[in-house]
Amino acid sequence: MSIFSKIAEGEIPSYKCAENEEFYAFLDINPMVKGHTLVIPRREVDYIFDMEDDELARFEVFAKKVAVAIKAAFPCVKVGQAVLGLEVPHAHIHLIPMQSEKDMNFANSKMSLSAEEMKEIAEKIYKEFSK
Ligand code: 5GP
Repeated sequence: MSIFSKIAEGEIPSYKCAENEEFYAFLDINPMVKGHTLVIPRREVDYIFDMEDDELARFEVFAKKVAVAIKAAFPCVKVGQAVLGLEVPHAHIHLIPMQSEKDMNFANSKMSLSAEEMKEIAEKIYKEFSK
């Protein structure tokens, strides 16, 4: 089982931002900015472009709802989306509240936030997602 499957199953703790039967969203443990969120399918698949068209479409629609919630919780110019998958072999979309294009540079140093801050951020996004 991949580390992200374990997260979606609740075997490994995460800061939950949104979920439905098929997909799960949680805070990146090493955020580039406050609100940096990962969206995953519960089904284990490594490469996003191996997903069937229908599943990929539902994945993107779910990510859109999470992005709307992130933008409401953390006002920004736009929420950027990126797919890398170089580290974790379980498809995931990075959603990143952007003030400028610099916020999308994955070579940036990552933020170090306390557990309390992470909890507050995730709860804010979850609240907006649940509206
Ligand atoms: P990528 O596979 O897209 O290149 O990078 C994986 C991303 O997942 C990184 O931004 C990393 O910080 C994040 N990540 C890796 N392991 C964990 C984890 O156990 N929990 C959480 N919340 N994020 C993780």
